Amino acid sequence: MKILVTGGAGFIGSAVVRHIINNTNDSVINLDKLTYAGNLESLLSVDSKEHYCFEQVDICNREELDRVFNTHKPDAVMHLAAESHVDRSITGPADFIQTNIVGTYTLLEATRAYWNTLADDAKKAFRFHHISTDEVYGDLPHPDEQDGPLPLFTETTSYAPSSPYSASKASSDHLVRAWLRTYGLPTVVTNCSNNYGPYHFPEKLIPLVILNALEGKALPIYGKGDQIRDWLYVEDHARALYKVVTQGTVGETYNIGGHNEKQNLEVVQTICNILDTLVPKDTPYAEQITYVTDRPGHDRRYAIDSSKMSNELNWQPQETFETGLRKTIEWYLANKTWCQHVQDGSYQRERLGI
Ligand code: NAD
Repeated sequence: MKILVTGGAGFIGSAVVRHIINNTNDSVINLDKLTYAGNLESLLSVDSKEHYCFEQVDICNREELDRVFNTHKPDAVMHLAAESHVDRSITGPADFIQTNIVGTYTLLEATRAYWNTLADDAKKAFRFHHISTDEVYGDLPHPDEQDGPLPLFTETTSYAPSSPYSASKASSDHLVRAWLRTYGLPTVVTNCSNNYGPYHFPEKLIPLVILNALEGKALPIYGKGDQIRDWLYVEDHARALYKVVTQGTVGETYNIGGHNEKQNLEVVQTICNILDTLVPKDTPYAEQITYVTDRPGHDRRYAIDSSKMSNELNWQPQETFETGLRKTIEWYLANKTWCQHVQDGSYQRERLGI
């Protein structure tokens, strides 16, 4: 297969590209605008391989998208390009509306125009895989609020997004479904929980805490730190996405999660404990924890029921939170140059979205 991956220079997209190039015979065309979050240094291990090529293109640019489709003639699209940071969406929602909604619409239209030129068999085999988030479902009851077994997000949970980011992703999910229903474009959607792992831009909780801890800076906890997320190691996500694009059923949605519900404070304390053993210093890293004003509209709990992925596509995460987090911390300790280069721009780990 020739797979057009959008956002392949980002955190999850680069893991998908590395997974496909290193483990399959498929080719990848990586289409990315290279915003602050896109970094070609995350692809150094694959960029000289003959099955890989890069196109610097904005998904809002229809002419350029048409050129890419007509030049490379892909068999599938995996659409990951997005503005992805909730705090940034609170400070400046316009880019989220533009890329996540208008960009997805433009990409769907370019895909449809190309797909209409294909022969019947190729049309049937074609896939448009839209990569989305569990944040479109809003939040779930927290153990503080309810006794007994707590509900999980399933593929039929109603949409109730809370932030400009999750609302823009919800809009894009609806567009993708409509392009299947109205035009017959063979689409599939995945909604995934919080990812962590190597090559994660240090504005997100886990890499920010690792780097701040090592530099002796404050480790900011929003509110009481009792918000619960279901953490998934990024390489487990990449394997899941490849299964969906190659074996998933057209029109279906698949929820992907890590079975790792953790409170934010517990995540930060676990990072501190691992650093205490890997890079010991006079005082415990946990003494750097500080509590800051909570994010407006902060969802309290996300948790995914991923039984459809395991029952229908035989996928399970391979990493536990403990093994994945240790691998992640070891990666950041061994890749200081990558960390310096991605922070050379205007962002210096300051708080956004208050
Ligand atoms: P990221 O911010 O690390 O990367 C996004 C990539 O998209 C970057 O390389 C950026 O340059 C590119 N991009 C942005 N705007 C573009 C545009 N207009 N045209 C072309 N390229 C553009 O994001 P990520 O964390 O890798 O997330 C990838 C996808 O997965 C997103 O759609 C996100 O909503 C979804 N997702 C993320 C998580 C998570 O925990 N990170 C969880 C579930 C779903």
